[in-house]
Amino acid sequence: MSDLCPVCGNVANFESEGFEGSTVHCLRCGYYKIVGTVEGILEKAMNMEKEKRILISGYIRDNQGILLTSDIYYNIFDSIKMPKVDEKVKKLCYYLKQLIQNQVQKLIYLMEQMLILKLTVQHI
Ligand SMILES: [Zn+2]
Repeated sequence: MSDLCPVCGNVANFESEGFEGSTVHCLRCGYYKIVGTVEGILEKAMNMEKEKRILISGYIRDNQGILLTSDIYYNIFDSIKMPKVDEKVKKLCYYLKQLIQNQVQKLIYLMEQMLILKLTVQHI
């Protein structure tokens, strides 16, 4: 297994789980699980049209945590179409908004911890 996302080819982190497949954390696709058979199909389809990989990646992005099975894989191309530019922009803005909110929440948490630490030190 490489350290590249089987869907989009970007660098990804993998977790081993108790099923025949992988749990993937990809910057582009996000978090998903993929069964070994689909992973194999994607590995063999190295020259798959870029548009198809983008469709799968977008589907995963919209359905975080999904298990990418053969059924989903074979029906994806019938059920979804390439989004128009304005839809892509909306999705990107939504993603960036979530990313920023998560970072702000982390920052607030760290500031609270620093404040608690400062107050603790003052009372020692
Ligand atoms: Zn990916």
